[in-house]
Amino acid sequence: MIVQGNDAPGLAPGLYIVAGPIGNLGDLSPRAARILREADVIACEDTRVTAKLLRAAGSDRPMLAYHEHSRAEVGEGLLERMASRSVALVSDAGTPLVSDPGHELVRAARQRGIPVTTAPGPCAAIAALSISGLPSDRFLFAGFLPARAVARDKAIAALAALPFTLIFYESGPRLGATLAALATALGPREAAVARELTKLHEELVTGTLTDLASRYGSSPPRGEIVLLVGPPEAEVATADALDQALEAALRTMAPGKAAASVAAALGLPRGEVYARALDLKNTNPESGDPR
Ligand code: SAM
Repeated sequence: MIVQGNDAPGLAPGLYIVAGPIGNLGDLSPRAARILREADVIACEDTRVTAKLLRAAGSDRPMLAYHEHSRAEVGEGLLERMASRSVALVSDAGTPLVSDPGHELVRAARQRGIPVTTAPGPCAAIAALSISGLPSDRFLFAGFLPARAVARDKAIAALAALPFTLIFYESGPRLGATLAALATALGPREAAVARELTKLHEELVTGTLTDLASRYGSSPPRGEIVLLVGPPEAEVATADALDQALEAALRTMAPGKAAASVAAALGLPRGEVYARALDLKNTNPESGDPR
């Protein structure tokens, strides 16, 4: 079946959510660059930052500042434009709407029946997760924790029991205090600090929350940071046990049967086990082909 994509020449009217690089201009996709060259107007956070991106994309399209403080005032004008022209939204870095403006605009566009199209690409949270080695089958992106200690600790307490890898954005000066608060509330869970991803000084440091809190407590790192915290220990053990049992079962059984047998043995929900069985089967299609 051939499905019509969004690559016809010229841009149809509507809103285009365009992901840009998180530090390395080489990560701007050809499709994103094309949208930036062809859109009638580019809505962006900081016109100085986006001017560099547009130069790299070979675009001379006009920019309009759409940020925290201009959202209400500029939003309505953008929505009116989108009805008959193409508007691209970019952030200073990565994917718009991820700890960045855009949610209200997309929502309002949808409510008015204006087409909204994605040009997906880099996102610091996903880039960090992909190299962290922490469980990636289920994760929760929690953005920036509140700056004030009481609100921050309350936010951490609300996340403590979740059986997912947690992903936070954080700044260098606050990293030590955040790690200490996380270590106090969650104990010595596995964690990772991903810094300056895709840039010259890219670095990933792993360890327990306690180790990392002491490493960064007195020497705040420079640059941009993603902080990841593994799920509670029991979850890691369960996930490992599940994969081992499924891999063994898939050698002799079809995914449905393997999932039923493993779900019963480990006392886990059958639907979740079946989904994992399919993942494993897809990542390793060689693992037998039982009929
Ligand atoms: N929309 C962006 C995205 O898709 O990742 C995030 C915008 S948010 C305002 C900026 C935060 O993302 C930074 O403070 C930092 O925590 C994280 N970040 C952005 N670029 C990064 C990079 N290259 N390496 C590590 N963290 C990064």
